[in-house]
Parts: sequence; structure tokens; C-alpha cells
Amino acid sequence: MYIYKVGVVGAGTMGAQIAEVVSFSGLPVVVADKEESLARGGVESVRAIYQARVAKGKMTPEQLEEKMLLVTASPNLEGLHDADLIIEAVSEDLMLKQRLFHELDRICSRSAILASNTSALSISAIGSATKRPGKVIGLHFFNPAYAMPLVEVIPGLGTDPQTVDDVVGFSESLRKQPVIVKECAGFLVNRLLSPYLNEAVWCLQDGDVSIKEIDQDMVSFGMPVGPFTLLDTVGLDIALDVARILHRSYGPRMAPAPLLEAFVKAGRMGLKTGKGFYDYGTADDGGVDRHLEGLREQSRQLTGRSQMKWSRLRPLLAMVNEAVIALQEGVASARDIDLAMAAGTGFPSDKIGPLHLADQLGIEHVLQELEELQDRVGPRFWPAPMLRRLVDAGLTGQAAGRGFFSYEPTIAQMR
Ligand code: NAD
Repeated sequence: MYIYKVGVVGAGTMGAQIAEVVSFSGLPVVVADKEESLARGGVESVRAIYQARVAKGKMTPEQLEEKMLLVTASPNLEGLHDADLIIEAVSEDLMLKQRLFHELDRICSRSAILASNTSALSISAIGSATKRPGKVIGLHFFNPAYAMPLVEVIPGLGTDPQTVDDVVGFSESLRKQPVIVKECAGFLVNRLLSPYLNEAVWCLQDGDVSIKEIDQDMVSFGMPVGPFTLLDTVGLDIALDVARILHRSYGPRMAPAPLLEAFVKAGRMGLKTGKGFYDYGTADDGGVDRHLEGLREQSRQLTGRSQMKWSRLRPLLAMVNEAVIALQEGVASARDIDLAMAAGTGFPSDKIGPLHLADQLGIEHVLQELEELQDRVGPRFWPAPMLRRLVDAGLTGQAAGRGFFSYEPTIAQMR
């Protein structure tokens, strides 16, 4: 199905970014919100995104005006009646989204696809509020959508294969990298990123290391920013919400670090409140160091663990192990898991992705490290069974010629 016109509902952060991406590709897009003034505000946000491109010399003011001709605000949902694809980006609330999809189902043409940009809610549950679950799908853009190449395409239990194909084709026409993800809590990228970030906080809590040292070490590994800079940018409250959702779905291995909860309780939510793991020029309250020691001590008492030496492998292996569990569950292929982590998080290109990293480290080494961490830290590091199967079969990664991926033998190996 060719998509000639797109509707976006919810003109906030993501709605405006998505409308910009769609119009940039040359398609007309109609934006709706609770009120017309909010929809118009969304259109102005689209203009501001284009304006930043003009300021950087990446487009001319004339090109900006041409693109803006494609973006219109609608006073109500009825204005989306002739769109072929509607992308919903309202607040993260299942009942709200279900009510909205029920309305959209009534208003939109029978052939229209209804997509949700939800970060964590069930697509199947959203689809059940309509008479067209076959045409309801998750289409998860990343923030900022104009810069992040990845979109996760998440079919619900009732989604038709044709809808998946149509949405993949549409995403490619936006010059995005679509990855099809089997529906599960956190989908793919957040499911793998959250344990990595959470483990960095556990390391800070358990270790004799500073926030800056951990951030610097992960940047020297090749991550675009350190975990604490990223947490401050995302918002510690949002990161904690995600961690709690994953904990409910996956159990003890996703238990949120008490230190993260303590920071949120202390009102240190990150950039948006002027203080989080770092201070951002707010009124002096003694700085993060004074808070950190107290909060670290309280959190340590809760877990009763003594100090542990920092190792970057700890957060990385939390991600690698979750990647293997997701692979076992068939959430995505090994190739797509690595591709999604590269496009969605900036995982360093020389390591490609968490599964290639496991192959590079040697899967027997990954398994041994996880077993040691399981003994010292606890069940969060219970190794994914597939790791042992690969080791038992001698498929231990790059050096063995095969692990999660196959490798051509090197000249030295051929001799
Ligand atoms: P936001 O709060 O910036 O915007 C939400 C918008 O929805 C607001 O403009 C609000 O007025 C509108 N809205 C609320 N109820 C409505 C209704 N009944 N009808 C029409 N509009 C309504 O939120 P956001 O950060 O843009 O997030 C939107 C969605 O995208 C959420 O599902 C979120 O989980 C997801 N998401 C967010 C991010 C992110 O980094 N912010 C990233 C990926 C996905």
C-alpha cells in the first residue's frame, strides 16, 4: 500500500519530530492534538527543527518554506480522516491511547494503518480497542527522530503481515533503518539499554569509582556518551519508570539500583531539573559529591554489599546477556539486534553490537565472567542458556570462526 498522506496525533516532543521527518521526506502531514492551539504549537516546533537546519547551513530559508507547506494543523481528529497512515504520539497512558485508537478507528478510512509511537505499552492491547487490529502496529521512533536512524516496527498479536511490510516500506522511504521487533516489554533497544544503564548505577553504588570515571571509561570504550550523562539527558525519573516496567516483566535480573531510586527521591532528575548525576549550573546545594556519598552509603546498607572494583565489563555484560536472552526468545535476529543497538544507541562501530562484542571477547570468556559476576553480585548475571550451548558446541566466537555470527578464517588460520 502506498502512503500518500500521514496524520500525527499528539504534537509534543515526539509528534513534532515525527511530523518533521515525514514532511522532510516530501509527504504531506496533518498534526492534531487535544486542542487546535496545541496542534499549531506542534507545527511551530516543526518549523523550529527546520530553522536549526537553516542556521547550520544545511537548507535554505526557501527550502524551509517549501517543507512547511506540507505541514498543517488540524482543529480535531476528523482532520485526519483521509490520511493513509496515522502515527499516534500522545502521552504514555494505555487507557488514553485505547480511547484515541477507538476514535481513530471510527474516523479514518478502512484501509488506513494506525501506528503507535509508544515506548513500552502493548501494541496488542492498543489494537484490541479497534475493529482493525490487523492494521494496528508499533512504530517506535527515537529521540531526536530527525537524527536517530532507527525505528522499531512492532507487530501486535493481531497485526497483518501486509501492515508490517507497508510500515517497513514507509520507514525506508523516510530514510530510516526499520527493525522488526517481536512484541515484548521495552521492545528491543530499551530492553537492552536499561540493564546496561541500571548496572552502571549499581557499579557506582558498589564501587570506589566516581561518576566521571565511569562515564570517561565508557566513552573510551567507544560509547557516544557515558551512562550517567545519558541518564541525565533522558531524565532519571523516566529511566526509573522504564526500569520498573522491565523489572515487573522480567523479574530480578532487572531490579532497579537503589541508588537510582535515591537520586529520584532527592529530586535529582537530570538536565531538566538542573541536577542529576551532574550539576548543571543551578543554585549551589553542595554539589553531587556531597549527595553521592550519603546516598551511596544508604543504598549500600540496603543491599549489605561491600565495595567492588569497577570494571566496564559489568554494564556491558548486562547488555550482552540480555541480547542473548532476547535472541533466544526470537525478539529479533542476531543481525537485527546488533543493527538496532548501533542505530539506536551509537554502540561503537568497531564492536558493531553486543552480540559481535561477545564473539570478539570469546563466548567462553563471556560465560565465565557472567558466572563470576553471578557469584559475586547475584542472580542479575544468570547467564543466558544459549551461551553454554554455544560453548559446548565449540562455537565460541570470532577466534573459532563461528559464534553468533560466522567469520572467514584469517590467513594465519588457513596456513
Ligand atoms: P509529550 O508529553 O511531549 O507530548 C504528548 C502530547 O500528546 C502533548 O502535546 C499532549 O497535549 C498530547 N495529548 C495528550 N492527550 C491527547 C489526546 N487525547 N488527544 C490528542 N493529543 C493528546 O510526550 P512525548 O515525549 O512526545 O511522548 C509521546 C509518546 O512517544 C509516548 O508514548 C512516549 O512514550 C513515546 N516516546 C517518547 C520518547 C521521548 O524521548 N520523549 C521517545 C520515544 C517514544
